[in-house]
Amino acid sequence: MGTKKKHGKKHGKKHKKKGEKGSGSPFSDALRVSDGFVLADVDQRSTPAFDGDKQEGKDALVAADGEMDDLQERLYAQSRSGGRRRVLLVIQGMDTSGKGGIMRHVVGAVDPQGTQITAFKAPTAEEKEHPFLWRIRNALPQPGMIGVFDRSHYEDVLVVRVHDLVPPAQWKRRYATINDFEESLVEDDVTLIKVMLHISANEQKERLMERLERPDKYWKFNPGDLDEREFWDDYQQAYQVIMDRCSPERAPWFVVPADRKWYARLAVQQILLEHLRDLDLRWPEADFDVEANKERLQAM
Ligand code: AMP
Ligand code: MG
Repeated sequence: MGTKKKHGKKHGKKHKKKGEKGSGSPFSDALRVSDGFVLADVDQRSTPAFDGDKQEGKDALVAADGEMDDLQERLYAQSRSGGRRRVLLVIQGMDTSGKGGIMRHVVGAVDPQGTQITAFKAPTAEEKEHPFLWRIRNALPQPGMIGVFDRSHYEDVLVVRVHDLVPPAQWKRRYATINDFEESLVEDDVTLIKVMLHISANEQKERLMERLERPDKYWKFNPGDLDEREFWDDYQQAYQVIMDRCSPERAPWFVVPADRKWYARLAVQQILLEHLRDLDLRWPEADFDVEANKERLQAM
């Protein structure tokens, strides 16, 4: 595609110049997909924007909990006084890429009242009767909420493309449909953050083997995952096409190297934090007379 739209100024919000050094968004800047991105060139064991080791990474994750709580509460507070801003974090990745760990360790650390997680499985009979975005629209976060998608509408150009679950003419149209849909979300006060957890084929093999070697992990193993693994290259290609066609400047992808779980968790948390900070979330002004209410309470 190659036509990257400029940041809109429609909301009168200030946008930091992305991609600039020292912009205060090191993880987002290091991991954002832009023109010429090549998935196969990403080292899945690398740790962009972070110099520390595993323990330091784990410590950094925990250290950011307080700020995350504060920002989430501000987002929610704004919605109580009429704000429409919401966040949608989309998580995609091959089987065993660590999506569940993101839900537990990153999203799980945030106030559950402020988050809405939706996991998308193969569509039900009812969902199949509707256009592919129907179930996605139904799961969009309410104002003030942080919505998280464990898989998403991108499955409709991943598994569906790899196996031609619908005729090619139909899935080929979906890239443009997705771009229009996401543009409408961004226009509608949704802060959209799309993350691919990028693991290597070797790492997937190890993680699947672990599920077969540990009785406490059998439940996570699905023999069908081996069938899908046969299509590894096709999936990688399908992801590359997504990065080529569905990463405009206002709704970019972030590709997170995910062979090191601790890094992937830290990176997703930091990308989320960087976006929340950018929203410049103020506590809402009181819509009542603070002094008068103080005086009244004093007298009670
Ligand atoms: P899991 O996330 O491991 O529970 O697996 C969910 C399964 O649902 C995966 O195999 C996905 O590929 C599949 N899935 C999700 N969305 C779709 C879709 N739109 N069409 C077909 N399969 C899907
Ligand atoms: Mg699975």
